[in-house]
Amino acid sequence: MSFKFDINYLKLLPKTELHVHLDGSLRLSTLIELAKSRKIKLPSNTESGLKELVFKSKYKNLVEYLHGFGLTCSVLQDEESLEQVAYELAIDNFEEGVRYCEVRFAPQLHVNDKIDIHGVVESVTRGFDKAKKEINSKIEILSGQEPRFEYGIIIIAMRMFTGGFSDYFKKFTTVHKYTSNENIYSLASFEMANAVVKLRDEGFPIVAFDLAGQESGYPAGDHFKAFDLIHKNFISKTVHAGEAYGPESIFQAITELHADRIGHGFHIFSPDRIQSSSIKDKESYIKKLAQYIAEHRITLEVCLTSNLQTMPELENNIKNHALKKMLEARLSISLCTDNRLVSNTTVTNEIKLAVDNFDISPKQLKDILIYGFKRSFYYGSYQEKREYVRSNINYYEQLSKKFGYQI
Ligand SMILES: [Zn+2]
Repeated sequence: MSFKFDINYLKLLPKTELHVHLDGSLRLSTLIELAKSRKIKLPSNTESGLKELVFKSKYKNLVEYLHGFGLTCSVLQDEESLEQVAYELAIDNFEEGVRYCEVRFAPQLHVNDKIDIHGVVESVTRGFDKAKKEINSKIEILSGQEPRFEYGIIIIAMRMFTGGFSDYFKKFTTVHKYTSNENIYSLASFEMANAVVKLRDEGFPIVAFDLAGQESGYPAGDHFKAFDLIHKNFISKTVHAGEAYGPESIFQAITELHADRIGHGFHIFSPDRIQSSSIKDKESYIKKLAQYIAEHRITLEVCLTSNLQTMPELENNIKNHALKKMLEARLSISLCTDNRLVSNTTVTNEIKLAVDNFDISPKQLKDILIYGFKRSFYYGSYQEKREYVRSNINYYEQLSKKFGYQI
């Protein structure tokens, strides 16, 4: 049985967004406007047309899901567009009660002759800073009645790429003509990691490093050098894992790439996904892995709608999602959108989907939402983070009292 929550309560509650891709979360109207001003051809110039052809509510497969990113990236090739999209993403999040947002993107997808990695990160930072300043000057926040809006940047390195991904990747592939593909991917992520350390040291609010892109056939091990450098520079790590591959991929992300959080972790409870022949007792392996993840408080960034759209095995029924088992195993999870535009969702919507379909009490919901703040890669000192988390807990409790929920 599921507990019924007032939608206004869900909207007002202080929330986090720990897994959202910038290039998958544009406003549709902005995509059209940017394409028009940059003379880029879209399959349709109307919102309804694009929803019918590209940004659907259901996708046939991952390839169809990923199609939209080619379009969004094509308009995000200069400072102005990146700044605008970042600004709007922060505002859209705040308007549905998100108080803390970690935005992620792969700078190498936006680099060309006019803009370098530094310029990409600077533009996104400018957009978020502008929104943050506006939001935090609201009277409710200035007076301390409501928690302020904060954000952090997660930089993505790609597991694999082709020359078609961006100008930058095209050149990267061309100049390394005699190098094997695996070595090219590893070189590109190492270059990205070096940039991250430098930019973080310059003061950009980069809080973590991520690995994304097609998992199947492209092992995380190729990126060990990049993650090792990041780790040694005290930058946090999150890795997209367990989407295409199973439990071993999650284990590899944690042990070899030092992941503090896992993007999706969808197949964590799927013994049939274990490929290594050396693992004889698959059920026992899964139990031990879940135990390890629970004990080390490694947070799974769960994206329900996105999984529904790309995982045919869910058969369009969210009740088949491993979230139930994750909650039963007392794993630390956070509910995220993945992509606001491509998955046509919001953080509130993801929470609603979870409480409508899984047995989550008001107390449990509070634990989940507050855990998002606690497991965030907050930019700032630990003392500041604790204070910030506290202000969100206080506000959460106030709202719960007002709406009559026992937490
Ligand atoms: Zn993702």
